Amino acid sequence: MIQENIYRIKNTLPENVRLIAVSKTYPRNCIDEAIQTGQLDFGENKVQELLEKYRPDEDIRWHMIGHLQTNKVKYIVDKVVLIHSVDSLHLLETIEKEAQKKDIIVNVLLQVNLAHEETKFGFDEDELEDVLTHAYKHVMIKGLMVIGPNTDDEKRIEEVFCKAEQLKNKYHFQELSMGMSHDYKIALRHGTTMVHIGSDIFGKRDYSK
Ligand SMILES: *Cc1c(COP(=O)(O)O)cnc(C)c1O
Repeated sequence: MIQENIYRIKNTLPENVRLIAVSKTYPRNCIDEAIQTGQLDFGENKVQELLEKYRPDEDIRWHMIGHLQTNKVKYIVDKVVLIHSVDSLHLLETIEKEAQKKDIIVNVLLQVNLAHEETKFGFDEDELEDVLTHAYKHVMIKGLMVIGPNTDDEKRIEEVFCKAEQLKNKYHFQELSMGMSHDYKIALRHGTTMVHIGSDIFGKRDYSK
């Protein structure tokens, strides 16, 4: 089923949109199954879980898509291709410091809170300009991540994704990480370059374990 789901979803994505398979809460063997299709981009939202699934000698491109605590940055900076969820200047500065220590450049996205839901991390839209005045030697800000509002109201989701697309264009960003199982089709109409899909690939998540 996992493989069929990946093929089906990939068929709906334009060439310039990357599929990130969100493997959080699913066991490592689900990842192994997905890899068989050529899927190599995987997303996790917890440092501990990413480290448990990480193997140094394989081609997987790991994406950190969840809130990242500054004290855990050092464990993952050299293991992920992109941190999508940078939500504070303090975190940016910590990534810079840890990347400098390891003499690497780390690609990041700034998470912007456009849905204005209490549970959502991220910068406010009007903080972006100031954040972008800070220059870093070991951090490359490639774009934005936006999580849509948790609703079935397509109009409301569309509004948020429109705003995200405007911000991407305003700041001439290369990447916009936006769209999950329930709303990625809407995101495709609004300039997303990376969709992160979990349950539509791996099935319903079980948080009880
Ligand atoms: C869990 C998660 C996803 C995947 O959500 P699905 O609804 O299972 O597709 C995508 N993006 C982020 C940031 C997530 O935390």
